[in-house]
Amino acid sequence: MTSLLQALSCADGYDPESLNAERAHRIILDLIVPVQDRERLPVRDALGRVLAEDVISTMDVPGHDNSAMDGYALRFADLAAEGETLLHLAGTAFAGRAFAGRLGAGECVRIMTGGVIPEGADTVVIQEVVRAEDERIVVPPKQRQGQHVRRAGEDLRTGTPALRAGKLLRPAELGLIASLGVGEVVVRRRPRVAFFSTGDELASVGAPLKEGEVYDSNRYTLHGMLVRLGCEIIDLGVVRDDPAALEAAFRKAAAEADAVVTSGGVSVGEADFIRGMMTKLGEVAFWKIAMRPGRPMAFGRIEGAWLFGLPGNPVAVMVTFYEFVRDALLKLSGVDPVEPLPRFRVPCVTPLRKRPGRSEFQRGILFRDAGEWKVRLTGAQGSGVLRSMSEANCIIVVEHERGNVEAGEAVWVQPFEGLV
Ligand code: AMP
Ligand code: MG
Repeated sequence: MTSLLQALSCADGYDPESLNAERAHRIILDLIVPVQDRERLPVRDALGRVLAEDVISTMDVPGHDNSAMDGYALRFADLAAEGETLLHLAGTAFAGRAFAGRLGAGECVRIMTGGVIPEGADTVVIQEVVRAEDERIVVPPKQRQGQHVRRAGEDLRTGTPALRAGKLLRPAELGLIASLGVGEVVVRRRPRVAFFSTGDELASVGAPLKEGEVYDSNRYTLHGMLVRLGCEIIDLGVVRDDPAALEAAFRKAAAEADAVVTSGGVSVGEADFIRGMMTKLGEVAFWKIAMRPGRPMAFGRIEGAWLFGLPGNPVAVMVTFYEFVRDALLKLSGVDPVEPLPRFRVPCVTPLRKRPGRSEFQRGILFRDAGEWKVRLTGAQGSGVLRSMSEANCIIVVEHERGNVEAGEAVWVQPFEGLV
């Protein structure tokens, strides 16, 4: 592997002291290479995993021409160009029970949705427009040849990929794979992510709080975010602001994991512990991003492990995780292409103070006002206020170039919730 810094020195707009947030995101995604190990799993166990190989269809889907509606299957050629046509009912074709035999001239078959189109038939007329009189049915004019027929192989042809490598398997994909009769898939190994908190002031939950201490909450939010992302996690606890302890923690983390996420100790006031240690043991690609919160965020590598040195502030940890680490870990997991979190533009009812020249990520509440979606700020926006993150249901993203936002102007929002 070429050195990170070598790879970056010629990258356009690369300034390790102050990097545009979008450039930083791009650089991280370009550098990270997916984990290579793979394993074969039963389909159900592959939920949330990433396909390492294409799933090739071994059959046509649907397997036969079948009816999209309840009605009557018939031969279009039998229908009169003008006026009604009288057809003789020759039998039934229900889902799973086909009509045996061939449809003769002037005949039709009662058919249900999913029923196999009988040989000879090419068109379905829906039951609502037909008049049935005992064994005879009357079909009105103006039908279209081939209507309401789902063709064999219309969804998927034998030998074509049903799903591509790089696909994250969600409920729809599990069902799609099962619909092909496939019972096992080859997926990538889940990335192993080690994480620890740094700071002399941190107490672990369960211990009494001494004067000046705060409970370590970052390891809990990180635990939640990493587990939801489908990573295998290695929790290395709290590490004191002490060079020997930090070095030992980094070495252990890098040896065991594909990626290491730390919080705290990246600001200048903290004697640049983390950045200094990362530089000593490996390489640091950049450490300052033009964003708020999250300006000090180190990204680099030690041996084979990617490093994300997040700020200490609990809100900054979550924002930098969702804006950078999430996509980086998806790439590491083998997801291809990595789709950034969707953003929508809605009017913001709260005015926002903002300085051009950095991206800002504020906690917002999306709400409905007379049928229209709008966003407002949560109360306190201090980056230490984790409660604001819990009250929020979206992040308001104010772009790099933009200045103050007046009440009523449109802003970008990233909703927190999707389909689970
Ligand atoms: P730092 O980046 O280490 O200067 O930390 C910035 C702020 O975040 C300080 O107020 C820390 O006390 C706080 N902080 C750092 N790490 C944690 C943590 N793991 N849990 C809660 N607060 C933290
Ligand atoms: Mg600290």
